[in-house]
Amino acid sequence: MSRVQHQEGYAVTRMWLLPVGEVCDKHLYGEHGELHQLVGMIEAEMWPQIGGQIAAGNVDLTEIVDRHSELEEYLDLDSPLLSVGIAGPLDNLDSIMPKGGIDLERSRRDLKERCPDCRELIKEAQG
Ligand SMILES: [Zn+2]
Ligand SMILES: [Zn+2]
Repeated sequence: MSRVQHQEGYAVTRMWLLPVGEVCDKHLYGEHGELHQLVGMIEAEMWPQIGGQIAAGNVDLTEIVDRHSELEEYLDLDSPLLSVGIAGPLDNLDSIMPKGGIDLERSRRDLKERCPDCRELIKEAQG
């Protein structure tokens, strides 16, 4: 597991949400870890921090569960499914904050900038 780059705790959360073929394993493992982290934040009701990530365009709360399943399958992981505890809080979030959204072109741009492996995969995928 490559989770070394976020030891500072909850400061950085980023869902790429790109097709798995366009993201290198390192960044997919990272995204997977951040989904678990995000669920931890939801369970801890860290709404200001989560709201900050939403405002930054880094997370989409509606995609957590599906994206997690997709990444676990692709990376051949078998961590317990995201806690059942998030269903309740997520249902009640509407009154607290928007659920966020991801600009996929921004994900591509940032990954291409910071990672040669992702840059190559995105280039191949886009022909
Ligand atoms: Zn997992
Ligand atoms: Zn990468």
